[in-house]
Amino acid sequence: MTYAVIGAGPSGLAAARNLQRAGIPWVGYELAAGVGGLWDIDGPRSTVYESAHLISSKRTTEFAEHPMADEVADYPSHRDLLAYFRDFAERFDLTSGFTFGAEVVAAAPAPGGGWTVTVEVDGVRTEHRHAGVLLCNGTLSEPSVPTFPGSFDGEVLHTSAYKSPRAFTDKRVLIIGAGNSGCDIAVDAVHHAASVDMSVRRGYYFVPKYLFGKPADTLNQGKPLPPRIKQAIDTRVLKLFTGDPVRFGFPKPDYKIYESHPIVNSLVLHHLGHGDLRVRPDVRRLAGSSVEFVDGTGSPYDVVVLATGYHLHYPFVDPALLQWEGRGTAPDLYLNIFTQADPDLFVLGMIEASGIGWQGRYEQAELVASYLAARRTNPAAAQALDARAAGPRPDLTGGYRYLGLERMSYYVNKDAYRSAVRAEIEGLTS
Ligand SMILES: Cc1cc2nc3c(=O)[nH]c(=O)nc-3n(C[C@H](O)[C@H](O)[C@H](O)COP(=O)(O)OP(=O)(O)OC[C@H]3O[C@@H](n4cnc5c(N)ncnc54)[C@H](O)[C@@H]3O)c2cc1C
Repeated sequence: MTYAVIGAGPSGLAAARNLQRAGIPWVGYELAAGVGGLWDIDGPRSTVYESAHLISSKRTTEFAEHPMADEVADYPSHRDLLAYFRDFAERFDLTSGFTFGAEVVAAAPAPGGGWTVTVEVDGVRTEHRHAGVLLCNGTLSEPSVPTFPGSFDGEVLHTSAYKSPRAFTDKRVLIIGAGNSGCDIAVDAVHHAASVDMSVRRGYYFVPKYLFGKPADTLNQGKPLPPRIKQAIDTRVLKLFTGDPVRFGFPKPDYKIYESHPIVNSLVLHHLGHGDLRVRPDVRRLAGSSVEFVDGTGSPYDVVVLATGYHLHYPFVDPALLQWEGRGTAPDLYLNIFTQADPDLFVLGMIEASGIGWQGRYEQAELVASYLAARRTNPAAAQALDARAAGPRPDLTGGYRYLGLERMSYYVNKDAYRSAVRAEIEGLTS
């Protein structure tokens, strides 16, 4: 029987490739018309926009076995990345293993063993038996939409629905939230809108894309420094390069650098310094054509953009199988991959981390494939992993104290995480 790979984004392609390498039969189901995941701007669940580029640089992001060409930019656009994933899938003959335009609407353990996966294509549902399932359906597609007191007469848009700044032409725009997408959209908007404000709750650390003439994330790639030392050095380097965001109206962060996902953006502070952008405090209420802020000020707007992030979303699987208490929390999985409920159910790509790249996701897939292979060739090693998966969770924070936010509930430190995954792979394959 085959394993079902759900999704053909970077994680699904990594899953397919690693199952193939281990000689484990698989088939894939993908809702979109082709591979590439959210990097295909035309995909129904894609949340990239016309100006989207990588925020991690290509060498720290690419699959190791398929480096990007030298002529590709350091921070490629979504178009380049879609071409890259198509190329990867073709090179390893993965594309033909997927059914496209196929939405998985249910996946459940089958009474006689294995799994039943229900797939909808052109409105027609069919059931398929599989040995197990690998959930690779992404983490950044299901919008988290906050509610505010009052009502707003203008347009309200979540970043998931944003594609082009032309929608802002001559409009007064308020962006709520200053995560990476919110900052990209603010930078887009200043060239089209009548005015652009950003409402923020907390302070942020802004990491420029280049430091000392090199992509910032390619520096200091050796042995990881202890958190306190790295935080002290990088805070100082940022002060020297980008200055203090408080000068531009941001609140002072009430946490240390790397305790939340950093904002990789060289242009927000530039535009604040040019008066193209304004920082506003948290929203108190929506008041017709205006928005009131907690400091008692208010302004009229035409468009409000909710840059308020995403919820994890596994709607086709019983949350109990994932030990998942639902919104605001993350499934409780060993290494963010293995469930305790079913040895043939795996989650891939449910990691957020600064600098983990697609190679980090590839290694997750390599671990799952190694585990499935070991169940045949090295059952003792596979059972030892099962025992660890049922035990206490290892510390994957790398010593950083992450903020207690929903999007940080599945956050890991890339060095701690990758070394834990690699240790498991070695244990299964040695
Ligand atoms: C603007 C933006 C910038 C980013 N920048 C970076 C970066 O610089 N570096 C980085 O590492 N990451 C970045 N990311 C994170 C991004 O999520 C990952 O790069 C990567 O796309 C995750 O891959 P994935 O395969 O897990 O998920 P996705 O790429 O989201 O792919 C999931 C796939 O599953 C499919 N699917 C969903 N539900 C179903 C279903 N029920 N049935 C069948 N198919 C389904 C979807 O159609 C999709 O094709 C960025 C994200 C955004 C939005």
